[in-house]
Formats: sequence, C-alpha cells, structure tokens
Amino acid sequence: MATPSYNWVSVDLAALRHNFSALKAWVGPAVRVMAVVKANAYGHGLVPAAKAFAAAGAETFGVAEVEEAVVLREAGVPGEIVVLFGASNAAAAEVVRYGLSPVVFGTESLAELSRAAVAAQKTIGVHLKVDVGMGRLGVLPAAAAAVAAAVQAAPGLRLAGLLSHFPQADLEQGDTHDQYQAFERVRDAIAALVPEAPLAHIANSAGVLRFTEAHATMVRPGISLYGYYPSAVSARPEVVLKPAMGFHSQVLQVKEVPAGYGVSYGHRFVTSRPTRLAVLPVGYDDGYLRSLTGKAQVIIRGQRAPVVGTICMNACMVDVTGIAGVSAGEAVVLMGGSGQAVIDADEIAGWMGTISYEVLCLFGSRNRHVYSGTDEAIPEKGIG
Ligand SMILES: *Cc1c(COP(=O)(O)O)cnc(C)c1O
Repeated sequence: MATPSYNWVSVDLAALRHNFSALKAWVGPAVRVMAVVKANAYGHGLVPAAKAFAAAGAETFGVAEVEEAVVLREAGVPGEIVVLFGASNAAAAEVVRYGLSPVVFGTESLAELSRAAVAAQKTIGVHLKVDVGMGRLGVLPAAAAAVAAAVQAAPGLRLAGLLSHFPQADLEQGDTHDQYQAFERVRDAIAALVPEAPLAHIANSAGVLRFTEAHATMVRPGISLYGYYPSAVSARPEVVLKPAMGFHSQVLQVKEVPAGYGVSYGHRFVTSRPTRLAVLPVGYDDGYLRSLTGKAQVIIRGQRAPVVGTICMNACMVDVTGIAGVSAGEAVVLMGGSGQAVIDADEIAGWMGTISYEVLCLFGSRNRHVYSGTDEAIPEKGIG
C-alpha cells in the first residue's frame, strides 16, 4: 500500500445502502429508483457507491457521460445505465457495445445511434428528455411527440423512457405542480405512438421527498442517497438519511504563541491571548477552500475548535487553547461526527456559501477514499 496521505475521505457503504433502502421504502414497490451516481457518485467513488446501491436493490443507475457508464460496466455493474447528458455521435458504438441507455434531446443523435445498433443487431433503449421548465437539456413539450415518433421509426432504437427535471422542487415556492402537469400532458401525447409505455421519470431528491404525486414510474434521487436533504424545506423526518462521507486530517504541529501574534498570510487573525495553535496539513488544494477562512470549525477530541487565519494551499491553523492535551498526530475531523460533536456538509456549505452537493464533490474529488461498511456481500451478477 502506498504511504497514507495526511488527509482522507471516509465513505460508509452501509449508510449508502441504508439511504437507498429508505428511499425505496418511501416511494413504494410500484416505483423504480434510479441511483444517480454522476460526478463520481457525488464524490463518494463511482464503482463502490454503485455496487453498494446494487447490493441494496438498485437496478437502474444514472451517470452524466458515456465514459462513466463504461467504467461501471467494466466493473461488472449490471442493470440499466442511463446516460443523463446523452451520447455524442463518436460514442454511439460504445453505447451499443455496453448496452447503455442514452438520453436524447432532439433528432440529431438518432441516426448514428440507429446505425450503430443495426450494425450490432441490437436494440437500444433511449430516454427522451423534455424541458418543462428547467431551461436546461430537453425538447420543448410541443416538439416531444415528433421526436418520440422519430425514435420509434429509427431501426434499432426504442423509446424506453420519457424524462424531465424539476428546477424548483427544493424551494418553498415554485411551479413544480404546473411543470408536472406539463410532463403528464407530454406523456399522454406520446402514449399512442409507443405501444409499450416508456418509463416516466422527473423527480430528483426534492421531488421524491416533497411531491409524492410526481413520482411517476421512476424517481432519480442523488443527494438523498448520500445522506442529505436537498434543502431545509425538503426535510422529511419519516425518511431517515445517513450522511456517508467524512473528511479527516491530523495535527502536524502544536505550539504555544503569545497574545498579539499574527497567524497565516496577511495576519488576518491576531491572537488576543496566549494561544495554543494546531497546524493541520489540509488546505484549499484538498478542497478545504480559502473561502472557509474565518468561518470553519473542526472537531478534535470530540470538541469543536475554530480554524484561525487564512487557509493556505496545504495547511491551516486551529485554535486548540480550549482543548486539553492536543498533540501532533492527533485525529482531526473536518466533516463527520466525533463524540457529541457533528459537522455535516450542510454546515460547511453554509460557511462556504454553497450547497452540500458542492462540498461532497469537492472533498471527494480531491482526496483518497477509505471505505467501511462492506460487511454485506455484494451480489455478483453478469453484465446486464
Ligand atoms: C443530478 C440529477 C439528479 C439528482 O438530483 P438530486 O437533487 O441530487 O437528487 C436527477 N436527475 C438529473 C437529470 C440530474 O442531473
């Protein structure tokens, strides 16, 4: 094993399995749950997270790009893999070879996908994306039926799904109901064109938690699978979620400095009393952003301590005057729980002026992962 780095991200696979099961129980047996594992599974590690969700019963996975879907297939992840941002013409052959389900948002990509499917004598299920108000990917509702007909007419292609995306389901106010009605109208409009009803899916985590009438036949939770409600108004105490990611470091040096001592670049912090400083080997290169300066806290020996002075590229300083006995090598929790203290991604997001999603992606993409909770056997299945 390589020399362990000072900092690491812990991922509790049992928490991921728990969250999938909790959401599955919430939506009920009639609704499928697509595990959204784009962005390296929100920083948790694409393959381990997908396998944890598979072990909890996931049969459908959502990724952003073909490249991620190929990684899942190569790792033996079975089931349907929906490529949420579609496939370029250059990736059509891979879509067919790996049995992927691309999202389409117009007729442009159909010819190449059809050609690749026919050449391999296979049928590819595509999911048609409609834009009912997100203003992102998708055809406008009025154009949806024509694209659905073009899919059905293309040899080797089949309309396997119809989807859209909610822009405001996590907000107190919004047009989510109207957007869902627009989605239902498109669903009705294409019903006559497609003999086998395609899957219909629109609900992200906020939709899953707040708009049960909009679950359709499949839901697409992301953030909630990783243990977080998408926003305060989306909190659902009945659906108990467990954050799966922690962020850990250790104390590099402890020293006593006098009152009036400037700490870190720019001396933005000056001690007001004799102070015990702990130097941590973690900084913005590790995703512990400079914008956390003056705001962040960490947990040492089960107690919170403030980060003081400007956060550097690979270091930051913590005032541990109030915590007895801290010494070099001591464990530091930047995110997670220790003793009675808990710092979660929502709190860190508040300090950074962002959302938990970005915190998880940041920490997860910049640090080594250590997995726990692998006690349950992961079913070995062939490529689906
Ligand atoms: C990321 C994403 C989701 C999941 O959203 P959450 O808010 O994380 O639940 C669902 N659908 C699409 C198309 C996405 O891009």
